[in-house]
Amino acid sequence: MAKLIEHPCVQHKLAIIRDVETGHKRFRELAKEITKFICYEALQNVRTKEVEVQTPVGAATCRKIDTDLVVIPILRAGVGMLEGILELVPTARVGFVGLYRDEETKEPVTYYERFPPQIKGGTCIAIDPMIATGGSTVAAIDQLKEHGAENIVVICIVTCPEGIERVEVAHPDVPIYAAAIDAELNDKKYIVPGLGDAGDRLFGTSHH
Ligand code: URA
Repeated sequence: MAKLIEHPCVQHKLAIIRDVETGHKRFRELAKEITKFICYEALQNVRTKEVEVQTPVGAATCRKIDTDLVVIPILRAGVGMLEGILELVPTARVGFVGLYRDEETKEPVTYYERFPPQIKGGTCIAIDPMIATGGSTVAAIDQLKEHGAENIVVICIVTCPEGIERVEVAHPDVPIYAAAIDAELNDKKYIVPGLGDAGDRLFGTSHH
């Protein structure tokens, strides 16, 4: 299941982040801002508990989040979305998963992982700006589930039908939240129109 965040504030920022003229400083700021809004939507149904709070005037019945939140950036580009999530939920824990694509098999291989134990029983938020083929997203979810995670959502900025379908087939319980669902992949497996190589644009590693 993919949920598109169509709010004008998100779509406006998306128009700027897509622009080839947007440099890495502004790209990073926008990635943070867009991610924060998408995460806000993704946590709409997170478990809460009733708490009683003493105000200066009386007792208020309130609600607080009642689950451990664990954010998992998929290296490298996912790191560019981390700050936005931590601004929204500052007590979240952070795990990491690093994957590369084996050039022969074309399958993702895990080269790094470090997860807080709270992925078991908590709510995991896997982040990667671009879900293109969906291969690394599926592999990251596989790793999380192997370590006991049961409650996982994925947040990206741009995805496409191929990526959504691959995640849906492998992990039908994991929703994807995105600011855009673009048409297709090109022969280099980039999303078209997408926004280019998100890692390069975030970290200034391209020639532009
Ligand atoms: N990764 C990116 O950074 N961009 C794409 O379009 C696809 C995968």
